[in-house]
Amino acid sequence: MTQPSDVQSFRLTLLGASIFFLALIGGRKGFGIMTFPKSELQRFKTLLQEKRSQILQNAQSTLTEDMALDTNDLPDEMDLASSEYLQSFTFRLRGREKIFLEKIDRALVKIEGNDFGLCEECGEEIAIKRLEARPETNLCIRCKEDQERAEKDYS
Ligand SMILES: [Zn+2]
Repeated sequence: MTQPSDVQSFRLTLLGASIFFLALIGGRKGFGIMTFPKSELQRFKTLLQEKRSQILQNAQSTLTEDMALDTNDLPDEMDLASSEYLQSFTFRLRGREKIFLEKIDRALVKIEGNDFGLCEECGEEIAIKRLEARPETNLCIRCKEDQERAEKDYS
């Protein structure tokens, strides 16, 4: 009979070592605080800043168009309702732009704070493909779908 406690403690050491290495690999892959290497963060930062200036540009041209369109120039048949419709449309557009800008700014803050790319709902990492398409997103696809489903239920 060999000493079973030795075998057991050896196994425990082995287990401990593998947990340690897994944690190490996991840490590199992005569990924990550091989600992306600096170069990746810089790439997303540029993406976000480009989007930001694009939105501001769009908002500006919408505003210029609005000012060019004087309601007095509308023919009489165009009743109040349609101009109200127009107004609420541009208002909505600006509301959406505002939300979008806020999201972008929040993502930029996250880049500085090193928690960029984590879902605000479940804390999971957001898929890189999703981030590349929408770097301003704050939810992973699963939570986003849940949210959309909930919104649909309310409307
Ligand atoms: Zn999530």
